Amino acid sequence: TEKFLRQTDKLSLAGEMAAGIAHEIRNPLTSLNGFIQLIHEDSSRYHSYTTIMLSELNRINSIVGEFLLLAKPHDTVMKKHAFSTILNDVILLYESECVLKNVVVKTQVEAPHTYICCDANQIKQVLINLLKNALEAMPSGGEIHLNVTQHTKDLTIFIKDTGVGIPSHLLTHIQKPFFTTKPSGTGLGLVVIKNILYQHKGTFEIKSTVGEGTRVSLTIPLWEQEINH
Ligand code: ADP
Ligand code: MG
Repeated sequence: TEKFLRQTDKLSLAGEMAAGIAHEIRNPLTSLNGFIQLIHEDSSRYHSYTTIMLSELNRINSIVGEFLLLAKPHDTVMKKHAFSTILNDVILLYESECVLKNVVVKTQVEAPHTYICCDANQIKQVLINLLKNALEAMPSGGEIHLNVTQHTKDLTIFIKDTGVGIPSHLLTHIQKPFFTTKPSGTGLGLVVIKNILYQHKGTFEIKSTVGEGTRVSLTIPLWEQEINH
């Protein structure tokens, strides 16, 4: 029954998402349609119009990309992975961007050889979405603190930034599909995270103070030899 319930959960999420995605993609499509008409009438503004058009196309691309991450749960490959390897891969991926944006990443791993049972690409996606949000919350630089601690049954991961923070009245809204406060955001990053953690039987929590920063805590169950072998 648990498996069945999880499947119906996924189906209703997919339905909710499908309705939202149609709406969200229509906005940039309407804007693209408008700019093509303008170029058609006056080709001298070609350059400034195509700049906006490209950014609208990018927006559609990210919405569809993130939607696909939610709609393809069958590709999940659960295996034994060292969490620190996954984390290091993601940190490396964002190293240059952090330097460019004046963001210092401070990592403290109190579980260097801990294994989890996961789909490595999906857990990478979770960390990427969180790092992106942290970077976007610190337009003039700051710090990202990554803390990993091993407990008896799970791994706790804290991702803390010194960014703009989230007003308390928005905390309940930010996890809804398509809710974004960013001009070119998709509002799907946290939905993707929640869905992946649900599939991994993990948890997810956000605490934030405006002007001070945001702390996201995750738990992921440890690899259990007896059960998984
Ligand atoms: P997106 O990043 O595309 O807006 P997300 O689902 O990743 O979508 O995040 C939803 C919203 O939650 C963001 O628009 C932002 O308002 C808020 N948010 C998420 N993470 C942070 C953070 N680290 N600092 C400040 N605000 C955040
Ligand atoms: Mg995001």
